Amino acid sequence: MATSVNIRRDVKDPFYRYKMPRLQSKVEGKGNGIKTVLPNIVDVAKALSRPPTYPTKYFGNELGAQTKVEGKDEKFIVNGAHDSERLQSLLDGFIERFVLCGSCKNPETDLIIKDQIIIRKCGACGSNSDVDMRHRLATYIIKNPPPKAKKAGKHAAASNNDDAAEDDVGALTHGTASLAVSDEDDDDDDWHCDEEVLRSIGNPGPLAQQAGSDDADADADGDDANSDGVDPFDVLGDFIGEGQHDDEAVFAKAKELDLHTNHRALVVVIQCVFEGSTTLVKDIAKHKKLLTRFGNSEKHQRAIIGGFERLIAANPDALLSKTPATLMALFDKEIVEEEVFLEWGKKPSKKYVEKDDAKRIHKAAQSFLEWLENAEEESDDEDDE
Ligand SMILES: [Zn+2]
Repeated sequence: MATSVNIRRDVKDPFYRYKMPRLQSKVEGKGNGIKTVLPNIVDVAKALSRPPTYPTKYFGNELGAQTKVEGKDEKFIVNGAHDSERLQSLLDGFIERFVLCGSCKNPETDLIIKDQIIIRKCGACGSNSDVDMRHRLATYIIKNPPPKAKKAGKHAAASNNDDAAEDDVGALTHGTASLAVSDEDDDDDDWHCDEEVLRSIGNPGPLAQQAGSDDADADADGDDANSDGVDPFDVLGDFIGEGQHDDEAVFAKAKELDLHTNHRALVVVIQCVFEGSTTLVKDIAKHKKLLTRFGNSEKHQRAIIGGFERLIAANPDALLSKTPATLMALFDKEIVEEEVFLEWGKKPSKKYVEKDDAKRIHKAAQSFLEWLENAEEESDDEDDE
C-alpha cells in the first residue's frame, strides 16, 4: 500500500505534486470503550497546512462521534471503531470543503477568518472562496482559529508548521469536552445563534467577558486556550474524564468553574459521565441528583435530552433501540417533564446532534412520545371532570 496519496484522490496522476501521508487508524479497546486512534493525523494535517484538530473534529462531526486528545503522547482519538478507508473518504470531504481552493481546486490555501466567515485564500490563483459556514466544523474553526491567523507576522514562515502542531494539540486538549459542546449550536442555519453560543461557551464568566468577546475580528479574541485561559467546559470534561470523582465532586467542580447553573454544562456532564454506558436506564437513576442540580428550566431539560441524544448518536448499535426506555427513565425520574418532551418531539432538531441522527432518534422515540401524548390526553380528560 502506498504510504502517500494525492491530496486530491480524484487526481490519478502519480506526478501530482500535492501529496499527504495515507491516513492510518488503529482501533483500540473493546465494547463500549472502543475507539479509533489516528497515529499520523499530525503529519496528514501538516501536509494540508491545517491543525490536526480540524480533520479529527471533522471526523467526529461526520460520524456523530466524540473526539479527543488523550494522554501525554497526545493521541488523537475518535470514539467508536472506524476503518481507515472510511476515514480516508471522509478526509476527502474535509479537503474538498476546508482545504481546496473553491476556484482552482489547488490545496495551497490559508484559512482566514473575517467577520465570522471563513475564507480559503488560494496561494496559487489568488482567489478567495468562502467555506460553507453551515458545516459544524466551521463553528469550531471560528472558535479555534488556525494558528497562522492569530500569529500573523510574528513568526517566520519556516516555523509555521511546528507552531501549528503545537497549537493544535493545545486546542484539542482544550477542546476535549467542548468539541462536543460547540457542536450544539447550528440550529436551523441561524448564524447569530452560533455567535451567541460561541460567546457563552468560550467564556468562563458569562457576565465577565461578554463585552470583550463581542467583536468579530479575524484574530482570536481570548476564546482559545493559548491566549488567556482555559475553556471551563473542557476543564469540567477533563475532570470527569479522570474517572475517579463521584457526582458530588463533579458538581463541586462545576460550581468552582461557575458552570453549576449552565445548561450546556449538562451536555458535557452527560457525555462524560455516561460515556460508554449501555445501561442508561439504570445509570440515569444512579445519577438523578446530579442531572437535576444544574437547574430545572426548559433549557436545562432540553440540554439533558440533547446530552442523551449525543450518547445515542455516538453508539447507535447499542443505544438506539433503547431510546424509548432511556427517555422514559428521564421522565419517570422526574428529570425531564412531559411538556419538554412533547415540544422536543414536534420535530427532529439538529441542536445537539446531526440532522440524520436526530431523525433516527426521533423515529426510535415514537413509541414513547405516543405513550406520553396519550397519557396527557387521559390526564386532561380527568382534569375536565
Ligand atoms: Zn485557486
